[in-house]
Amino acid sequence: MIKEFIQLIYPNFCSGCQSQLQFSEKAICLSCMVELRNHSIVSSKVAFGRYILEQEYFLFKNFKNKLLKNMIYEIKYKGNKSSAYILGVELGHLIKSSFSNFDLIIPIPVSKAKRQIRGFNQCELIAEGVSEVLNLPIFSDFFRRNNNLTSQVNSSRYQRWLNVENQYKTLTQLPKNSKVLIIDDVVTSGATISSCVKAILQKKSPITISIAALAGNKIT
Ligand SMILES: [Zn+2]
Repeated sequence: MIKEFIQLIYPNFCSGCQSQLQFSEKAICLSCMVELRNHSIVSSKVAFGRYILEQEYFLFKNFKNKLLKNMIYEIKYKGNKSSAYILGVELGHLIKSSFSNFDLIIPIPVSKAKRQIRGFNQCELIAEGVSEVLNLPIFSDFFRRNNNLTSQVNSSRYQRWLNVENQYKTLTQLPKNSKVLIIDDVVTSGATISSCVKAILQKKSPITISIAALAGNKIT
């Protein structure tokens, strides 16, 4: 559970608008940062499936935002790790401004196959950025993916939701009364978050859970 040392190479173009970066800008240009701040949202007591989470932080409230899509593409398919980290730092500032306290950060894992292809888990990089601002420990290997799931092919929408909802397991127990901040890249249906929350709460210890992500599903 130690903080990994990450070495970042900052490209000289913005991952949002592809414009050339100024010397003082890192990974994302100032104009895209301003645009991003206009789309950030903080909500309290939010329902995810059958669970209510304490706080929810999205840098972009809508995952269909074009700038966000460009940034995610750069991170996932072009290996732009510095963008994930810098967006994590920005997310950390958004969380800090809400004056909420947390004890630890848990990034959502990606599948082994995706990690192998990409070489990293973008949620861990985002978590590194958040941790830089909030100075919190990161529990990186906390969740286990359950591989014995029914095939998604030919299954109903409800069955697919159940499949995802049972996707994660956790082996260790968190300290009692922990305030946990889960980190994801993009929240769409909320089924993954719901699965992680279910896994944490199955350990029957009183835990408060919040979620922070680069983008969320507020289509307004
Ligand atoms: Zn830009």
